[in-house]
Amino acid sequence: MKQYSDRLDTLLTQIGRNPNSHENFVNPPIQRGSTILFDNAEDLYTNSKKSYGLEGSSTQDLLSEALDMLMGSIGTVLCPSGLSAITTTLLALLKSGDHLLLSDSVYGPTRRFATEFLKGLGIESEFYDPRIGGNIEHLFKPNTKLIMLESPGSLTLEIQDIPAIVAQAEARNIITAIDDTWSAGIYMQPLKMGVDISIQALTKYQGGHSDVLLGSISTNCNEILSKLRKAYLNLGLGVAAEEAWLCLRGMKTMKLRMDHCDFKAREIAQFLMGHKEIVEIIHPALETSPDYEIFRRDFTGAGALFSIILDPKYKADDVNRMLNAMDLFGKGFSWGGYESLVIPCTKQLNRKFGDWERKGQLVRFSIGLEDIEDLKENIIKGLESLSA
Ligand SMILES: *Cc1c(COP(=O)(O)O)cnc(C)c1O
Repeated sequence: MKQYSDRLDTLLTQIGRNPNSHENFVNPPIQRGSTILFDNAEDLYTNSKKSYGLEGSSTQDLLSEALDMLMGSIGTVLCPSGLSAITTTLLALLKSGDHLLLSDSVYGPTRRFATEFLKGLGIESEFYDPRIGGNIEHLFKPNTKLIMLESPGSLTLEIQDIPAIVAQAEARNIITAIDDTWSAGIYMQPLKMGVDISIQALTKYQGGHSDVLLGSISTNCNEILSKLRKAYLNLGLGVAAEEAWLCLRGMKTMKLRMDHCDFKAREIAQFLMGHKEIVEIIHPALETSPDYEIFRRDFTGAGALFSIILDPKYKADDVNRMLNAMDLFGKGFSWGGYESLVIPCTKQLNRKFGDWERKGQLVRFSIGLEDIEDLKENIIKGLESLSA
């Protein structure tokens, strides 16, 4: 039996490969395929092994196993994108007549899926204030089936009191699922905190190079796992071996990249504090953050993201001018890659709580691997263009 370390840096070098079974090369091969051959005709319908390419090859299996090692799950279902991991989870576990609670800070397309698609299936969605904590029990109905958490939300970065929410959910047999893309299972361990399902957009830090689309659903509950596997099969989902392989490769360096981006993002956020054009810096690891205490209790790091709110006198056009002046930052969606990105996000905020419409324009940064002085200079250049 291979011995695995319980220390993350070492563990990440050990998981997702098994040299003895791949010609003793360090990394596994990319096994593509649709048809799987059987020795005899009789075996086609009786064999208990895999029968078709949608079930994935050894390459995808190594990724699922690696994620299980990292998340502490008994099983992981891979999905073709982070969004499909979220929608597959909800479709697998909800039925017509059920009530779903979602954090008001969830990823925009998750919100759209709930309010458009699930509504059409007769599933009721209700959004809760991300800072609700144990008071979530007041929103429970007899038909509340699942709570979809995301902490912090990837634009506004509010942190949720996960243990308090889980305690209430467990008392009422309500399933909890979290979109944990922000911590990537590196800076927080949701399953160990009692959450039933941990979802990753592997597209972000695991992929790490803006060239992979992939998602995963990990759980330590057998009954949930078999429902997830059934939904995956019924929906006809599949994951390409190349994507899984790139993700395995990215996972080797993900903690190194995340720690590096974390250090720089905190330093840049500190550096911008008190800047005359900025009314608020949103970064949960700053001591001034309203979420700092929970952050310190539940997380070991923070990664690449932080947001700022500009002086309310600036409008959307001003923000575009600022971002266009920041030529070092890519203007594009997603995050967790090697290149720094920036987006204006007020346009995609669609919130029930927090009074976001009345605040200034919200801008989110994803800090990459560039030199920190270059990044600071470029942000200052953008901010100066506001009043130019
Ligand atoms: C990007 C992202 C997703 C979706 O991942 P895709 O692979 O792009 O579909 C889901 N949740 C969060 C928080 C994300 O940032």
